[in-house]
Amino acid sequence: MNLQDLNQPQQQAVKCIDRPCLVLAGAGSGKTGVITRKVAWLLRQGYAAQHICAVTFTNKAAREMRQRVTRLIDSKTTKGLKISTFHSLGQRILIHESHRLGYRRGFSIMDSRDVETCLGELAHRLEQDSDYIRQSMYQISRWKNDFVAPAAAAATADTPLLQAQARLYEEYQQHLQTCNSMDFDDLIMLPVQLFRDHAEVLNNWQDRIRYLLIDEYQDTNTSQYELVKALCGIRQKLTVVGDDDQSIYAWRGARPENLQRLQQDFAALEVIKLEQNYRSSSRILGAANQLIANNRHLYEKKLWSASAAGELIRVFPCKNADDEANRVVVDILSKRFQENTPCSQFAILYRSNFQSRNYEKALRDHSIPYQVAGGNAFFERREIKDILAYLRLLSNPDDDQALLRIINVPRREIGATSIKALATYAGSRKRSLDVAMRELGLLESINNRARIRIQGFIELIAELRQQALQDDAMDLCRALVSRIDYSDWLRETCTSVKQAEAAMENVMELISWIGNLQKERDDKSLDAVVAHLSLMSILENGEDQKPQDAVQLMTIHAAKGLEFEHIYLVGFEEDSLPHHQSQDDDGIEEERRLAYVGITRAASNLTLSYAKTRQKFGDMLQCEVSRFMYELPEADLEGAEHTLSKLSDSEKHQRGLDTFADLKALLGSAD
Ligand code: ATP
Ligand code: MG
Repeated sequence: MNLQDLNQPQQQAVKCIDRPCLVLAGAGSGKTGVITRKVAWLLRQGYAAQHICAVTFTNKAAREMRQRVTRLIDSKTTKGLKISTFHSLGQRILIHESHRLGYRRGFSIMDSRDVETCLGELAHRLEQDSDYIRQSMYQISRWKNDFVAPAAAAATADTPLLQAQARLYEEYQQHLQTCNSMDFDDLIMLPVQLFRDHAEVLNNWQDRIRYLLIDEYQDTNTSQYELVKALCGIRQKLTVVGDDDQSIYAWRGARPENLQRLQQDFAALEVIKLEQNYRSSSRILGAANQLIANNRHLYEKKLWSASAAGELIRVFPCKNADDEANRVVVDILSKRFQENTPCSQFAILYRSNFQSRNYEKALRDHSIPYQVAGGNAFFERREIKDILAYLRLLSNPDDDQALLRIINVPRREIGATSIKALATYAGSRKRSLDVAMRELGLLESINNRARIRIQGFIELIAELRQQALQDDAMDLCRALVSRIDYSDWLRETCTSVKQAEAAMENVMELISWIGNLQKERDDKSLDAVVAHLSLMSILENGEDQKPQDAVQLMTIHAAKGLEFEHIYLVGFEEDSLPHHQSQDDDGIEEERRLAYVGITRAASNLTLSYAKTRQKFGDMLQCEVSRFMYELPEADLEGAEHTLSKLSDSEKHQRGLDTFADLKALLGSAD
C-alpha cells in the first residue's frame, strides 16, 4: 500500500505495529487520518477485519471513519471490522456476557432522565430535594467513571454528604439489577469489572480484539482507560491518538493524564508527534496557538501550517442577540452568493444548545437550509419515548422506568394511589413492578376497580409479548401502535390536529427506521433492536441525520474532530465562553480548550461574534466580550472594537513557563 501522500511521522505512526503507539499532536494534523490509514495498513498486513477494533467518541465519527476506510479498501475485506464508540463496544461485550454479572437477557439502558427519576424515587424516602438528586447523580457518575464501586465509595467518603451519596449509590446499583437495567456509565464500568473477575472471559475478548485503535484519546476517563488496558493485555497491540489541548470532557470524568499513564503502563510505547497542520490557514492556526499558549501544558507541541496567511479573522460586535443572528446569517448569504460555497461548508458553533434558536429563526427567515446537531432530538420526543418504552418493556419485563411511562399511555385510569401502592409493594419485596403487579399480595391490597384495570394492563402486555415471539421488531411495532390506538391517543392529547399528525409521522419514521436497522443487522431480534435504539438515543441525542447540503449548527463539543471552510463562533462573550459555571482556574483552562477546538475547526475563514446586550429572564443585561478575545493576536483581527491586550506577551510567556515548571515538578519529566 502506498503511503506516499502521508508525511514522514504519519507514515511512521501507520507502520508502527510491533509496539504500542501514541500519536500526540495538535488540531488538524492528521491524527484521525492516521487511524483510518492504519486500519487499512493492518488489513494489508494480514490482520483479519474482525480482529481490528477502532474506537471513537460519537457514532457520527464512527460512521465517518468507516466510510474513509471503505474508500481505501474494498468492502469485502473490511467485513467484520469493528468501528464503534466506547459505549457501543461496552454494550457489545455486555450483550454477550452480562449473565455473568447477574443480569438477564435484554437488559435495558436508562437515559439520564430515567436515572434522575430512579434516584429521585430512592432519595425521596430520605426526603431529599431535586438539587440533592442532581448532585448525587453527578457524584455517582463520577465514581463510575473513576471505576469506584459502591463499597470503595463508602470506604473513602469523608463527609456526611458523600457518605449518604455512597449509600444511595449502593442502593441504586441494587435497584438497577432488580430492574435488569444499566445506566450509560455501567456500559464501561461493568465490562471492566467483568474482566477483573473472569480471566477466561477476558482471554476470550483479547483473542477477538487483536488490534485496538483509539481516536480522541485525551477524553477517556479512568474506566475507559482500564477497559483499554484490559483488552490490550500483554499483546499491547494498541494505537491511540490524542491532543491534550482538546480535552473538553473533564465534567464527564475525562482524564488527560491518561496520556501520561500510557507512558508508565506501556514501557515500550512509541510516542510520535505530528507538527504540520493541513486544515487551517496560517493566520487561524497562529491565533489558535497563541490562545492555547495561555494554558498550562504537560507536553510541548509545535504546530505549523504551510498554507498561506489567508483572510483576517473577523469580529462582529453586535447590539443584541437578534442583531448578532441576522448579521451572521446575512454574511452566510452573501458569501454563498459571492463564492458559491455549498451550505454544508458553513458551521455556526456555540457553547450551549439553547443558543441555536436565534440562528434557526434567522436562517428560516432567509430560506437557508440548516441542520441542528442534537438540538431538536428525535428520541427526546414524547411519542418516540412512549413507543420505545413499550418496546423496552416487552424486551425487558423488569424495566420499571419503561412501565411507569406507559402504564397510563393511553389512559387506563390506573390512579396515582394504585401506582404508589404498587411501587411501595415492589420496593418492600425487592421485586420489579412487572413482577409485583402480578402478586396476590398487591392485588389484595387495592380496590376492585383498580385491580380490574391493572389486570387489563397485564393482559395487554402478555398479548404483546406473545406477538413479540412471532413477529420481527418492525411488525411488532406496527401492531403495537394499532393495538393501543396510539394515533387516537395523540389526537386526544395534542394541542392541534396538525401536531398530532406530525407526531404520528414521527412514529412512522421510527417504524421504518427499525425496518432499516433490521436490514443492516444480522440479529433481528427485538432485544437487539431495542439495545441499539436505546444507545443511539442516549449517545447522539437522536442525531442520526443523513448529511445534507445545509448550514450546520452545533455546540463546540459536538464539532470536535470536524472541519468546515467557514466557522462562525457565536456568543463569544464572558459567561457564555467561558461559561458562567466554569470560572475557576481549571474551569477557565477547559473553556480555553473549547475555544481552541472551535477556532481550529475553521479551514479558511473564521468569524467571532458577540452581543453587547442580551435579554435574560425579562431583563436587558450588558454583556462583555470574552476574555479569550484579548488572547488572540490583535493584528489578525478585523472589526474588533476592543484594543487593549490584557496581558503583555512577555507576561503571558512567563506565566506559561511558571505553570509548566510547576507541573513538571509535580509529575516528573514529561515532554
Ligand atoms: P482534529 O485534532 O481536529 O481531530 P486531526 O488531527 O484528527 O484533527 P484530520 O481530521 O485527520 O486531523 O486531518 C485534518 C485535515 O488534514 C483533513 O482534511 C486531512 O485530509 C488533511 N491531511 C492530513 N494529513 C495530510 C497530509 N499528509 N497531506 C495532505 N492533507 C492531509
Ligand atoms: Mg481527529
